[in-house]
Amino acid sequence: MIATIRQLPEDVIAKIAAGEVIHRPVNAIKELMENSLDAGATRIDVRLMNGGMKQLEIQDNGTGINCEDLPILCQRFTTSKLSKFEDLFDIQTFGFRGEALSSISTVARVEVVTRTESMEYAVRAKYQDGELLGPPERCAGNRGTTIIVRDLFYNLDIRRHALGSTTDEFNRILSVMQRYAVHYCSAAFSLRRLEKGVPDLVVPLQATRQQAIAASWGAKMLTKLTPLSPTVTPQGTFEGVASTLEYHGARPTVITFVNGRLVEFPALKSAIAGAYRHHLPSRKHPWVFVALTVPAGDVDVNVHPTKERVSLVSEAELCDAVATALDRSLQVVRGVAGVGTSQ
Ligand code: ADP
Ligand code: MG
Repeated sequence: MIATIRQLPEDVIAKIAAGEVIHRPVNAIKELMENSLDAGATRIDVRLMNGGMKQLEIQDNGTGINCEDLPILCQRFTTSKLSKFEDLFDIQTFGFRGEALSSISTVARVEVVTRTESMEYAVRAKYQDGELLGPPERCAGNRGTTIIVRDLFYNLDIRRHALGSTTDEFNRILSVMQRYAVHYCSAAFSLRRLEKGVPDLVVPLQATRQQAIAASWGAKMLTKLTPLSPTVTPQGTFEGVASTLEYHGARPTVITFVNGRLVEFPALKSAIAGAYRHHLPSRKHPWVFVALTVPAGDVDVNVHPTKERVSLVSEAELCDAVATALDRSLQVVRGVAGVGTSQ
C-alpha cells in the first residue's frame, strides 16, 4: 500500500525546526548574545542555573524591543533584520531568519523584560510555543532587554537526557562567551553561575584585546602571544593574535571569526596546525585567534542551522594567506628570541 502524504501540523513543524537550532544551552546563549550585539548592546551579563539547563538569563543594555512587537516576538520567521532574500547576501547582523526566539520558546519557557529609550517603564512578557501568554505587564527595568529561559527541553525528554553534566554545559557556554569577549572586547561581558558567589568571567567595558584574553586565559598567557598584523589580500583582510613557540597547549585553541561571526572553520584549523607543525614538539598545540573580513557577497551565512559554519568563496586562498602570515610571524619571533630558524 502506498502511504498517503500529509502536511505536518504547525506545532510538529515548529518542534522539528527548534530541534535543529537549539541542541543545548550554549546554542540558546549564542543566539541570545548575538541578538544583544545586534541591538547595539555594550554590556552583556549572563547568569546560569544548573549549566543553563534549569535557567539561563541574559541581560543587555541594547535598544530594547518595541511594545507593539511583543505579540509576534517569538513567532516563527519574525525578524526586524531581513525583509527580502537578496538582503541575505549583504547581511550586517547576526540574525536574519527570525528563528531563535521562536525555537527557544518551543523547547523552553521564555520571559522577556524590555525597555526602549522612549518607554517610561519596562514590560515583562511570557511566551510558550511561540505565543505570548497574556498581556505584557509593567515592571521596573533599565533600557535594554533581559531574556530568561527556564526548563530547557522540559517537553523533549530525549534532548534533555542527551545533555551533559552541569559542568559540561557550563564549560561550553564559558568557552563561547570567552571567544565573543575577545572579539567584541569593546563591550563588557560577564558570566555567573547562580550557585556560585564569584563570577566566572568578567570583561570590563572598553577592554583591550589583551585584557579580554587575560580575563579568560590569564595574564601569563599574554607573554606567550604575538599579534598577527592586519593583512590585506585580494580575497579579504585578517588580523589576530597567535601563540609563540613558548606556548605548548595540550589541545589546539583556534578561534575564528568571519565577518564578526564565531564559526568553525576546519580548513583554516588545519592550515594553522600545518603552520606550527614543524615548530612545536609533537602533541603540543598553538592558541590562535583570527578575525577575517571578506566581502559580504563572498560568504554564505545560511548554510548551517546553528550558523556554526559559513561557506566562503575563497576559502583556500584565505587559509594559505593566514598560514603564510603565521609562518612569517613565527620566524620573526624565533629570530627575536634567538632560538634559531625553522627547518
Ligand atoms: P533574528 O535575530 O534572526 O531576527 P530572533 O528570533 O533571534 O531572530 O529575534 C527576533 C527579533 O527580536 C529580532 O529581529 C529583534 O528585532 C528582536 N530581538 C531579539 N532579541 C533582542 C534584544 N536582545 N534586543 C533587542 N531586540 C531583540
Ligand atoms: Mg537572532
